[in-house]
Amino acid sequence: MLRTQFTLTTKRQLTHDVYELTYSCPDMIKEYPKHGQYVMFQLAPGLNRAYSIASFAGKTFTLIIKRIAEWRGSPMICDAEVGTTFSGMLPLGHFVLQDNSRAKCFIGTGTGFAPVYCQALGHSLRGEKAEKIAFVFWVRGLEDSFYEEEILELGRSFVSFEYVQYFSREGIDTERQRKWYVTDWITPERVSEYEEYYLCGSPAMVKSAREKLEALGIAKENIFWEQF
Ligand SMILES: Cc1cc2nc3c(=O)[nH]c(=O)nc-3n(C[C@H](O)[C@H](O)[C@H](O)COP(=O)(O)OP(=O)(O)OC[C@H]3O[C@@H](n4cnc5c(N)ncnc54)[C@H](O)[C@@H]3O)c2cc1C
Repeated sequence: MLRTQFTLTTKRQLTHDVYELTYSCPDMIKEYPKHGQYVMFQLAPGLNRAYSIASFAGKTFTLIIKRIAEWRGSPMICDAEVGTTFSGMLPLGHFVLQDNSRAKCFIGTGTGFAPVYCQALGHSLRGEKAEKIAFVFWVRGLEDSFYEEEILELGRSFVSFEYVQYFSREGIDTERQRKWYVTDWITPERVSEYEEYYLCGSPAMVKSAREKLEALGIAKENIFWEQF
């Protein structure tokens, strides 16, 4: 783990409250992140905030952060001007992609998207275009949706790629876009097709998904999760 500084180089607003922020961190080459790890911002004494790395390359990393007005850390980070330098620590965390070619399912809700997207990207870089993956992602409504193009591009790296988006506030019901929650995706038929599960999002989703997977016979050691 490095105690270091990183500088905001680009900022893109993805939805009304979600930002994609890219930072340059020359120190990163001293200890490269694993897919799924996070960065800790030291914003002020007693004000540390963790954010999962959504992608990284060379000396840069990208975060996806929900700006919650009136809260403390996320507005400081999302409102910062390009060129602002922050102090922090990276890489941190044990919610990391397992280095194997097993069929994997990535399930994320809201900004819990960031680490599972990073893990799926890492899996795509293994270079064996044989893996089967599923990417299952929930947001409230269509206006909260982001990274559609990036996810479809990611899918081109895999022989078999199932991408399903869940919305709890839309009346949609198609093959790709469904109503309600990601846990609905977990059925005996689908579970029989995937060997490892990566879950990230609200504590309620993670708890419910873990219980459902275990009830369907998935061993605890094949379920990896983080909640926030
Ligand atoms: C490992 C990890 C990875 C994470 N990755 C991401 C990520 O990729 N993207 C992302 O967006 N988030 C991520 N988070 C969440 C992130 O760290 C912060 O928790 C989140 O951004 C909220 O921080 P904040 O300072 O804006 O809110 P805070 O100010 O800390 O508010 C948090 C809580 O305090 C309450 N609160 C705030 N102000 C008050 C007040 N005045 N009075 C009473 N209660 C109040 C809020 O209701 C809320 O429940 C991650 C967390 C962890 C642990």
